[in-house]
Formats: sequence, C-alpha cells, structure tokens
Amino acid sequence: MILNEWLERFGANTEMVGRVRGAAKESLVDMEDLFTKTQIEEMRVSLLGWYGLNRRDLPWRLAEDDIEKRAYRVWVSEVMLQQTRVQTVIDYFNRWILKWPTLHHLSQASIEEVNEMWAGLGYYRRARFLLEGAKMIVEEGGVFPKTVTSLRKVRGIGEYTAGAIASIAFKEVVPVVDGNVVRVIARLKAISANPKDSLTVKRFWELAAQLVDPFEPGDFNQGLMELGATVCTPTNPSCSSCPVSDHCRALSNSRSDSSLLVTDYPMKGIKIKQRHDFSAVCVLEIVQDEDMLDSDIHLSDSEFILVKRPDEGLLAGLWEFPSVLLEGEANLVTRRKMINQYLRNNFGLDIRKSCKVVLREHVGEFVHIFSHIRLKIYAELLVVHLKGLYICSLPSHFQICHILYLLFSVLYASLERQIHHY
Ligand code: SF4
Repeated sequence: MILNEWLERFGANTEMVGRVRGAAKESLVDMEDLFTKTQIEEMRVSLLGWYGLNRRDLPWRLAEDDIEKRAYRVWVSEVMLQQTRVQTVIDYFNRWILKWPTLHHLSQASIEEVNEMWAGLGYYRRARFLLEGAKMIVEEGGVFPKTVTSLRKVRGIGEYTAGAIASIAFKEVVPVVDGNVVRVIARLKAISANPKDSLTVKRFWELAAQLVDPFEPGDFNQGLMELGATVCTPTNPSCSSCPVSDHCRALSNSRSDSSLLVTDYPMKGIKIKQRHDFSAVCVLEIVQDEDMLDSDIHLSDSEFILVKRPDEGLLAGLWEFPSVLLEGEANLVTRRKMINQYLRNNFGLDIRKSCKVVLREHVGEFVHIFSHIRLKIYAELLVVHLKGLYICSLPSHFQICHILYLLFSVLYASLERQIHHY
C-alpha cells in the first residue's frame, strides 16, 4: 500500500499528508505492507504454541473462574506493570489483591490507603486512577465493562489497558501494543521509523490487529508481550529460540548484511532533556516543652506538619513535609529565608515571634530522579515550641500528624545523615 493510502486510512487531512510526506518520507516508505495471510496463520500457531509452553507463572495469570475478578486482576496488574519490572510488581500485586480482592473492595478504599499500598511503585497518578475507575464502575452499577469501547470510558483506562482487559478477560478480538509488542513488530517488519511518531504508532496497532488470533486473543496478546519481554529483548534477543524467526525481516536482513543488527530496530527514541529542579524541605517538629534539652527532644510528644500536594501535577495528592521550590542551587541562608516565608504565609507561623526555636539544622541533601525531572532536595530539621496561645488553624490540605508519611520516610532513609531517632 502506498504512503498516501496509509495516511488517508489513518484519517490524516491533506495538509497533514503533505507535511508528513515531506518530513517523514524516509522512514515511512521503508515500511512494508501488512503481513500476508500465510504469515499471519503461521505466526499465530507458532506463538500460541510457544506461549503455552513458556508462559511465566505470574499471580495475575492464575486460573480464575469469576470473569469479573479476572478482569479486575488483569487491570491491576497491567497498571502496575506500566513503567515497572515484573519481579517488582509481583509482591505489590499479591499485597493489593489480599487487601482488595475485588473491584467492590477497592471502591471502598481511601486514596491514602491506596497511596500507601502503592508506595515505591512511582507514578502515583496511576494508583489514583485505579481507585477512581473502581468507584466509577461501582457507582454505575458495578458491572465490569467488557469491550474496549466501554472500558475507554472508565477514568484512567487508555487504549492499551482497555485492549489488555478486553482481550485477556473477555476474549474481545482486539490488539494490545506496549513497548514489547512495538519491539517485536518493528523487528518482524524491519520498521525503521521513530516508534514514538503518532503515524508509526498507528501502524503498529494496525499490524498487531492483523496478527491477533480470533479464537485466543488474550493468550495471543500475552504471548506477543511475553516474547518481547523474554526472547526479543532490547539488547540481546535470542533469535535462535524465537518461534516467529522465520518471518522476521530484521533477522533476514542481518543475515544478508553483516552491518545490520536486529537490535537496530526499533529506532532508539530521542531522550527528552531532564529538567533540574531544587527544593528546600523543612521537617517541622512542634514540641510541648520549651526547656527540654536536645537529647530529650525526640522523647517528647512531638507533632509534625504535613502538607497535601495539589491534585494535579507531580506527586499529585500526596502528603509531604513543608517544601519550597527554589529557583536553583541556593545556600543555607536563602533556603531558610524561603522556608520562613513559606511558614509565615501558609501557617501564620513567624519563626522569630510566635515560637522558640529549640533546634534547627541542615540534615542533608538528596537527589530524586523522576522520568523527566532531576530534583535535588535540601532537607532541614526545625524543632520549635509554640509561644503563648498561638493556634495553628490549618486549611484542609495541611495536617498535624504524629506519623511520618511514606514518601519522605523513604527519602530521609536515604540521606547520608539519617533521622533515625524519629
Ligand atoms: S527473530 Fe530475533 S529479532 Fe526477530 S522477532 Fe524473533 S527474537 Fe526478535
């Protein structure tokens, strides 16, 4: 099929066709047309046979007669597996299912419980979407949506997760395209276009839709993903034990031209430059007795102020110690000035006037890497005794607690000088 037909089929307008033809001609014309009927049939048989013999025993794959429970388990596991390794997910999944064995159990949970269970997996928005999605399904009658179309209406369920749930739990004949599938298909068809390009992404979905087995769509999709995860790996594919090697264009290209490698496919994505952020964090401890000695501080009935982050953006909805985003590297004096200002503006807490400082010390620095941000955190401990009748009236996103919350307990555990005495 020629490029124009492809673009029109994907719904591209005339202007877009012109732009793409000019800009991406080189990559798109490399693409071969769809798989042939014979290739499809042979690959389905080979892959399903291979998957039957080689599938890993993973807790979310255990036989489950209740189809809705199965859908729920697929949903939870697929969301956990996004950006996280299988070995890491297994423990999280087992704990999650023990606590919330069904969608209805999950719908009763609070966001704090869910975040606590999710702690360490990152991308907390995914956990919030799981909870919101469960509540939404239960509020609308409690019946699990069974098709990609109806699943896409659930908050947080995208094309990939919808395809996985619909095909694995409900046997809808739909494709699933994740990073593993992209890699396998890019190699099978020797597709050299940028896999992140929207037209190329559509092409992968089209090819995966062609391949999916009409009788065993769930197993086929899992087989394709499993092949990418265990055989057709990013840097060291085991082509000699690959069930679809007879149909692999990248392999045949590499055999006829030694300068070509199967790992040349898919094209490596261009890395987005990481942003460098800086933050000053203040662990604010409020003690009852102004005359206590340093050594007594942590035996007291201390309270800590925690702040809830906004519902959107980085670490949305999580609790943290008071923090200020800095404009760049900042010395101790500047950081304290900013923290003092923050405490004054948000709590009406004037460090000089409304409290006695029992202890204030820099406790360390820590770098946390997010996918797109390198965040350097300067942490300090500020122990105060409130003077007179100062009443800390806090808006709902502030809390005084006796506990340390998950994020910063992990963070502080990693500081060179640990705050172990809490
Ligand atoms: S033959 Fe090699 S490169 Fe091709 S799909 Fe199989 S493992 Fe991947």
